[in-house]
Amino acid sequence: MKYDYLIVGSGLFGATFAYKAKKAGKRCLVIDKRPQLGGNVYCENIEGINVHKYGAHIFHTNNKKVWDFVNSIVEFNRYTNCPVANYKGKLYNLPFNMNTFYQMWGVKTPAEAVAKIEEQKAEAVAALNGREPQNLEEQALTLVGKDIFEKLIKGYTEKQWGRSCTELPAFIIKRLPVRLIFDNNYFNDKYQGIPEGGYNKLIDGLLEGIETKTSVDFFKEYKDNWREIADKLVYTGAVDEYFDFKLGKLDWRTVSFQTRVEDTPNFQGNAVVNYTEREVPYTRVIEHKHFEMFGQAVYDCPKTVVSEEYSTEYKDGMEPYYPVNNDKNNALAEAYRQLAEKEKDVIFGGRLGTYKYYDMAPVIEIVLNMDI
Ligand code: FAD
Ligand code: UDP
Repeated sequence: MKYDYLIVGSGLFGATFAYKAKKAGKRCLVIDKRPQLGGNVYCENIEGINVHKYGAHIFHTNNKKVWDFVNSIVEFNRYTNCPVANYKGKLYNLPFNMNTFYQMWGVKTPAEAVAKIEEQKAEAVAALNGREPQNLEEQALTLVGKDIFEKLIKGYTEKQWGRSCTELPAFIIKRLPVRLIFDNNYFNDKYQGIPEGGYNKLIDGLLEGIETKTSVDFFKEYKDNWREIADKLVYTGAVDEYFDFKLGKLDWRTVSFQTRVEDTPNFQGNAVVNYTEREVPYTRVIEHKHFEMFGQAVYDCPKTVVSEEYSTEYKDGMEPYYPVNNDKNNALAEAYRQLAEKEKDVIFGGRLGTYKYYDMAPVIEIVLNMDI
């Protein structure tokens, strides 16, 4: 029997698409080359803890329609992301707010903080002489000044992107909030949280009643004959791979994780601790249980799982995580997008299929707004 859609990839794009298509009475087959469903939000249970195997995922959105939709599949908890930065053993709250300014300079009021920030950024503002900041270093120095740049931004950013702050675009840092209130909530969005019971519940809910196959690579099993089994293809793999890299290979940045079990119920007291000095090789340490366990529940689970994150240059065979934002890759991605538009009966979607960095909520929003 023929399917309406063959969906390549069971991440949030593919799974949400399949859910909507099923509601519209369509028949779908979802395949994934990984041994499990869920794409990058998949969690592995270790010692009773949901471990975010492909990187820590915190759901946040301002879009009520998206929030209501995901909560109709599984209820979300009250997790609020409040990362802490460790610079040479001293701790600072993030994002940059009155707590950070107090820890950095001892200032206690917004007026004192403003005066200190003005003093800190005066030199960089004068150097610009009226022009716009042209790179991340200039942007950061004119936003928060030299102490915060040196201690909380420079090392972390250079580790994360593998390039000097003077070679990185200014916009990367613009998304970090600077607040003159005591508020450690990393996101400005109205809604945030983690699915109760973990992300696999969200994926299982979306894919309930839908045919799925894991450990199946589209290119090995379906590329040449998919039209025999489906009317349309939804493709969420890498766009350059679909076209056999014929215009060249897109670059990615990836992350590798060193995950271990610690024999203590509470290792670092927070889900996310960033290590902002250059000398510590990892960018941050994730303690997964704090995404879903609060209060006494932390201690009712005797062990804990922590992951160090190392930002790495992508090589063949690694997981492609972040699109690289430079002229060469943007132009190549655009050329592939033009090829994709001409491909008959194929919908390219998601992070890999469009070579765009999307948070989870925008991916879901795009699918919710599609005509299926
Ligand atoms: P994916 O989840 O990557 O799914 C694509 C699927 O396609 C994969 O399962 C893959 O195996 C499969 N596939 C690829 N090629 C083939 C093939 N040839 N055959 C069969 N299957 C194939 N967003 C947030 O909102 N908050 C966060 O905190 C956050 N943290 C992140 C941290 C990291 C390290 C990364 C990389 C991303 C993060 N994101 C976060 C973004 C989030 O992961 C994406 O928005 C989401 O995963 C997009 O879903 P997707 O379906 O497009 O892609
Ligand atoms: N950043 C930083 N210090 C930190 C956290 C973030 O300098 O402790 C910078 C870094 O350049 C990063 C950018 O802020 O790329 C955006 O951070 P965010 O956490 O939003 O990025 P993500 O890890 O989600 O891509």
